[in-house]
Amino acid sequence: MPIPSSFSPTPDLLRDRVIFITGSSDGIGRALAKAVASCGAHVILHGRNVKKLERVYDDIIAAKQPRPSLLPLDLEKAGPQEYEAIAQAIDKEFGHLDGLVHNAAILGERAPIAHYDVAKWLRTMHINVNAPFILTKYCLPLLMKSQDASIIFTSSGIVPNPRAYWGAYLVSKWADEGLMRMLAVELDAEPHLRVNSVNPGKVRTNMRLQAYPAENRDLLSAPEDVLKPYLYLLSRASRGVTGQSLASQDPPEFVAH
Ligand code: NDP
Repeated sequence: MPIPSSFSPTPDLLRDRVIFITGSSDGIGRALAKAVASCGAHVILHGRNVKKLERVYDDIIAAKQPRPSLLPLDLEKAGPQEYEAIAQAIDKEFGHLDGLVHNAAILGERAPIAHYDVAKWLRTMHINVNAPFILTKYCLPLLMKSQDASIIFTSSGIVPNPRAYWGAYLVSKWADEGLMRMLAVELDAEPHLRVNSVNPGKVRTNMRLQAYPAENRDLLSAPEDVLKPYLYLLSRASRGVTGQSLASQDPPEFVAH
């Protein structure tokens, strides 16, 4: 199902919606948080680094957009109790959740399986897969209370095109895609709750620098330029779209499956 070519974000696209974006202290998540706020949403900012989170908060306040919430949490260390407490806090403050974007991830080690460090594998899988599962589990009741809710997983070009030595990162992105598709089927009877994924493409962030230190960064997209599929999926314009994999670099009438 394509993004309609007529879709274009407006300042009231997400007015009064409550949207939780993991890893919104940097990179794509930070750009998305600012864009979501500029469309009128209340954004829950999440990351590890409090100083970076506060800078995003200050930028949103300076732009006179809805006051965001700050949620510093290390996904590597958090247990089910922390996630449950977060869901309770969101419930107490807002009573529902309209959007959950699973964006935070780490690259992990790149090495052949025969030499892959077991601790690094487990850490990558925990941050990239287990954390989105646990967060989704505890946020589902809040998403069910919304009249129009959207869950987005973050995919990658290595899902359609697997490459050697990408180890746990590659497997984690396949797992996220699988979780997205399974959840979309599980929630098929809930027309007000959709689940999809976005592959942002090649984006100029710290993670990309870590993966490809020698490449020409001028050839990469800026984080601000890959946000259209996220905004579409978070808005009511995508009601009924579920179980789909969208890609930021697709032309408007094409969506990868
Ligand atoms: P960045 O490295 O720029 O940002 C990662 C974000 O995740 C940061 O906000 C970071 O928080 C947060 N994060 C990482 N680990 C943890 C943790 N343990 N606990 C809490 N937060 C954590 O990455 P990108 O913006 O490049 O990537 C965003 C998403 O896009 C990822 O899912 C990635 O896999 C995907 N992607 C990116 C591509 C690219 O070209 N950049 C290509 C394809 C997919 P903090 O700053 O506080 O540490």
